[in-house]
Amino acid sequence: MKNTDLSILEALLKTPKKIVITSHYNPDGDAVGSSLALYHFLKKLNHHVEVVLPNELPDFLSWLPGKKDIVLGTQSEEKAKKLIAEAEILFSLDYNTVKRTENLSDLIDQSQAFKVLIDHHREPEDFADCVYWDIEASATCELIYRFIQEFDAEALIDKDIATCIYLGIMTDTGSFKFASTSAETHRIAAILIEKGIEAADIQSKVFDTQTYDRMQLLGKALSNMKIIPDLHTAYTFLTLEELKSHNFKKGDTEGFVNYTLALDGVFFGVIFIENQHEPYIKISFRSKGDFDVNTFARQYFSGGGHKNASGGKSVMNMEETIAYFIKSLNEYHKQLMPDEK
Ligand code: 5GP
Ligand code: MN
Repeated sequence: MKNTDLSILEALLKTPKKIVITSHYNPDGDAVGSSLALYHFLKKLNHHVEVVLPNELPDFLSWLPGKKDIVLGTQSEEKAKKLIAEAEILFSLDYNTVKRTENLSDLIDQSQAFKVLIDHHREPEDFADCVYWDIEASATCELIYRFIQEFDAEALIDKDIATCIYLGIMTDTGSFKFASTSAETHRIAAILIEKGIEAADIQSKVFDTQTYDRMQLLGKALSNMKIIPDLHTAYTFLTLEELKSHNFKKGDTEGFVNYTLALDGVFFGVIFIENQHEPYIKISFRSKGDFDVNTFARQYFSGGGHKNASGGKSVMNMEETIAYFIKSLNEYHKQLMPDEK
């Protein structure tokens, strides 16, 4: 995939357009942050802009400026359909394949709009007319900042836009901790702070608003954790029963997988989560260093993502899924035991 020239888009944006911004199913901080940042920015350029997301966002994002304007495919199907069908420009943010928008994917495929992809995932599909893509970017929100820069419009970044961009970078980098965090990421964050955002307050709204149930569920995930020291791998799981007994709400398991990588010597970590709404187990893969979880997720679990963070699915039950996972690890022996000769 190659980036395209932004000149056609630039010319289109010279006059008011009907614009729809979309992102992936089960939107996370980066998906919602990038969508709302671009929404506020394009509105300032006098366009008619709508954010259409496939399904609802987790509670810890409900305070974001513009949240109440978001149209959800699950709740307002007809409206979502109409907006996408009538859009002149359609933005695809934070996803590399239209399939990741699930219930919106047919509408997006059929849309005649000029399509713009802004994303940082590996191996994007070729579906957009304009591509603004960089796998080195820490977050799609970082790309939104750079996109605004391409238009020489940083002066239009106000506190709301800055807050949305910061939120997405913060959540996708694990609070500026992951290897994807570059000097540029920090430079952008510094500029956002100068724009007047309340960084400590944003961190607090996302990370210090846990429910007691969620903390107990984390305890369960920690006690279910297994380690395979020889393969530098740790995994954990949560069953439907465990989720139900802790009154699971969307977003409650966000970040749990990272605890697998907190173990000394572990560089490949996985969480398997049974799903109330979909007939499959949702899997999150994380790694540190060279082990490529995008390739692993693609090869065995119909997924993908980034080198150090990816996701996938399994339609088998939990026991079978974990057995299949352990079997597939054996095929990656060499990469998982880099010190062995
Ligand atoms: P998470 O584990 O947080 O759901 O996802 C980690 C990363 O992998 C995210 O960037 C997400 O967009 C991507 N990802 C998650 N699930 C899938 C999937 O099923 N397919 C693909 N292609 N990417 C995924
Ligand atoms: Mn992202």
